[in-house]
Amino acid sequence: MYKPALAPYDCTVTAIEATPIPAAALYLRISKDDLGDELGVARQRKDCLRLVEDRGWRVFETYQDNDISASERSKKARPAFRRMMDAVRTGSVDVIVGWDLDRITRRPAEAEEMWKLLLDVGHVRVVTVSGDDVDLATGDGLLVARIKMAVAAEEIRKMSQRIRRKHLELAQDGKPVGLGAAQPFGYKPGGMEVNEDEAALLRRAGEDVLAGVPVTAIAREWNEQGVRSPFPRKTTNGWRAESVRALLVSPRPAGLRRHSPGNGPVVEYPAVWPAIIDRATHDRLVAALSAGRGKGAPRRRSLLTGLVRCGRCGEVMTRDSKDGRPYLRCRAGAGRPGCGRNGMAAEQVENAVVRRVFAHVEERAAAGVEAAMAAGMNDEAAQVATELAQAERFKLTLAEQMAVRGDFDDAELAVMRKANRDRIGVLRGRLEELTATSTMRRWDSLAAFEDEWMRSDTDRRWGLLRSIIDSVQVRPYEGRRGDLERVAVDFHK
Ligand SMILES: [Zn+2]
Repeated sequence: MYKPALAPYDCTVTAIEATPIPAAALYLRISKDDLGDELGVARQRKDCLRLVEDRGWRVFETYQDNDISASERSKKARPAFRRMMDAVRTGSVDVIVGWDLDRITRRPAEAEEMWKLLLDVGHVRVVTVSGDDVDLATGDGLLVARIKMAVAAEEIRKMSQRIRRKHLELAQDGKPVGLGAAQPFGYKPGGMEVNEDEAALLRRAGEDVLAGVPVTAIAREWNEQGVRSPFPRKTTNGWRAESVRALLVSPRPAGLRRHSPGNGPVVEYPAVWPAIIDRATHDRLVAALSAGRGKGAPRRRSLLTGLVRCGRCGEVMTRDSKDGRPYLRCRAGAGRPGCGRNGMAAEQVENAVVRRVFAHVEERAAAGVEAAMAAGMNDEAAQVATELAQAERFKLTLAEQMAVRGDFDDAELAVMRKANRDRIGVLRGRLEELTATSTMRRWDSLAAFEDEWMRSDTDRRWGLLRSIIDSVQVRPYEGRRGDLERVAVDFHK
């Protein structure tokens, strides 16, 4: 029998022992996405084992997370991944082997944590069957890793789009999803034909809100009139401020089909059903109601609540009573910053203001100011609303970029976010100005205004006044009590 001499091999054996065989952690993950994908755990394992064998490594341990999506939106823990990170931390692992980088992690935050750990530990590499190797020991290793992760995140977006293509296609065609038997407000059952009565109510409510009428007033009127509510409630009053508000900002009556992919920007497509409210009005309603106007208004306000200021000190005058009649007073004392030296019967102030407002409306109607201004302001409001919508969409894009660490670095993103935020602020302010003043278009004659006034309750009248008046001042009494000249009214430009 042939027996080799031992001596020549001794030093070789010693050398092998001095260079330990790298320990590979195999990481396998099966996700729901694999169902139609054939990339099951068995295949991942086989490919990874072959890679380990080819490189001459040994398997330290196989880690496997089952049936868990590692996408950004998944918040589930991955216990095997955690255990693997612990093994890396304690120095038991030299190389992480996976099928591709997506398999190991798709969550940017988790990836950053992993890269940081690998940098700390120093020698651990990531090697994948698909060839996306990461070696943080090289100068640009981390940069390459981040780019690869960003690309992986992009792949997820593509994939989720593929999975939800049906929804997207429906949206792009402007078709509704799962409407069933529901009957959206303003439409006949099925939602494809306009119900003219409800549509008229909806248009008028939109105009009212842009004119400063609080949504609480509209909800109350609709309940009084028994207007059908698509938001069923147990009480007889189906409409609340919130449901009116939700209806007025809803894309549906504007003929828009909104599509909200989970992690992408919200997109609106032209719908197959007819619009009730035009696009510009819709945008202005969204801006007006999201900026806080027209909601949360208290019930039963008096005609001039919050609109009257003291002519001595400039503080808002509040309403109480004097000799059993309502009285507007500048109040001093704890928590009252006023001078305490001015007041006037509320009825007199109201009469003076209403007279001035009627005169103002008549004057401007006669001069033809309203028609000309309205045209210009509507154009500008529509333009500003469009720009605002663009800026809001850009905000979503930037947020998305933050999440995936895509094309821009953090400093660049911070600059863009600040610039966009400032722009949104300016546009909102301008749109509010335009919205506050644009109501005048509705009264090209005093008769039209008078008609509106007579049909309105206190809340609605308050809204009408608010849309015309900038402020009211009550000058201090100087020996002419009751003199209407004490009341000064500033109108919007
Ligand atoms: Zn005062």
